[in-house]
Formats: sequence, structure tokens, C-alpha cells
Amino acid sequence: MSDRKAELARNLDAVRGRIAAACEAAGRDHGEVHLVVVTKTYPAEDVRTLHELGVRDVAENRDQEAGPKAAACADLSLNWHFVGQLQTNKARSVLGYADEVQSVDRPRLAAALSAAAVRRGRDVGCLIQVALDAESGERGARGGVAPGAVGELADAVAGSEGLRLDGLMTVAPLAGPYAGRQRAAFERLMEISSRLRADHPAATMVSAGMSADLEEAVQAGATHVRVGTAVLGDRPRLG
Ligand SMILES: *Cc1c(COP(=O)(O)O)cnc(C)c1O
Repeated sequence: MSDRKAELARNLDAVRGRIAAACEAAGRDHGEVHLVVVTKTYPAEDVRTLHELGVRDVAENRDQEAGPKAAACADLSLNWHFVGQLQTNKARSVLGYADEVQSVDRPRLAAALSAAAVRRGRDVGCLIQVALDAESGERGARGGVAPGAVGELADAVAGSEGLRLDGLMTVAPLAGPYAGRQRAAFERLMEISSRLRADHPAATMVSAGMSADLEEAVQAGATHVRVGTAVLGDRPRLG
């Protein structure tokens, strides 16, 4: 086994162990929480190695990087998640590889994704990204729609051809009332999810928690955690 494969295997074991322990502590079944490995800034070779180690869900946050990487791994059976802020003019490109767009945060983006999905004759899963640091009517500093606007956007996604409303995603905010309070932030997301599921019972995915706060997310009820550095190592700083 190469050094890199051994390193990734060790890290994956540790992260899977953390998820299992968090499930145990929360009285949840391990199978309820899915690991999505965020491979941004790391090469396709690492994605290939992760696949050999049993990873089936990977995430990227920039289309320019994700497109070529997904193409280089097209022979592997992987679910590609898009988790970054997305310009509408990238919707067509993202539909070339993404199975799940976790960062849907405005009606115009939903419309662009729908048009691209129809054009490709396929469906794409969508999560509404919720900004817990945004006031009503605003968007979050790192993308996302204010909690008060989730319902309307969810209805728009659910009513769009080619789009499947799967649930919600959030990134714990760095500012505002939830700064430094991951547990409270994720519990708030779960409340918003309950309300969403009253109208859209199939929208059960809750994507929350990263390397530093996956335990809080599992405790609150997340179904998907998005883990980058704890699996792949510290990312080189961008530009
Ligand atoms: C990079 C990223 C992650 C992973 O963060 P780590 O701290 O590396 O685990 C999760 N979610 C989103 C939206 C990201 O951009």
C-alpha cells in the first residue's frame, strides 16, 4: 500500500470512528449518517484511492476544479456533490457530473439548474442551503438563503422539472447569533427541516457538520456530514 493510501485509510478509519461514536452517544443507528468526503484542492488520484477505500460520496466546491476531476474519475461509481456557491452560468457544466447540488440558494439558480437538467434529460438532487447568519431577504456571507425564505424556494425547486428536492444543507456560521454555537445552529437547521418535511415528506436529507464539528451535527440529527481536512489533510491555502 502506498504511503498516501495508508494515510487516507488511517484518516478515514478515524473519521468513521468519530461518526460511529457520535451516533452511539446520540442513540442513533450508524447507518443513518452518511460520510461525504470533500476532495476540493486534492487530485483525482486521491479520489481514486478513496474509492478503493470504500468512499462513494465526494464533494467539490468549484466547478472549474470539479469538472476535470469528475471526468478523470468517470470510470468509478461515485456520487458527486456540489457544495460551493454557484453562478447560474455554471449550471450546465455542473449538470455534467453532479448528482446532488447542496448549495441551491435562490430561484434563479434553481431555474438554471432545471433548464440544464431538462436539456440533459436527467434529474438532479437539490438541497436548499440555509444561511443561519442571514436576515430575512438577505443571503449569507458564504451563500445560503435566510431561514424565512426556505419554504418558498423549496416549493420552487419541488415544482421544477428535472429537480428533486432532497432536503437542506448548512455551514455553521462564523458571524451572527450562531457564531461559535454549532450545536445550536444545527438544532435550528433541524427545526427548519421538520417544517420543510411537513410540506415535502421526501426531503429528508440534512447536510451539516464538517471536520471540526461533525459530532455536533450528528447529535442534532444530520443525515450527511461533509468532511475534508480530517480525511485528506490540511488544504494548501488558495491564492
Ligand atoms: C470545504 C468544505 C467542507 C469541508 O470542510 P473541512 O473543514 O475541510 O472538513 C464542508 N462543506 C463545505 C461547503 C466546504 O466548502
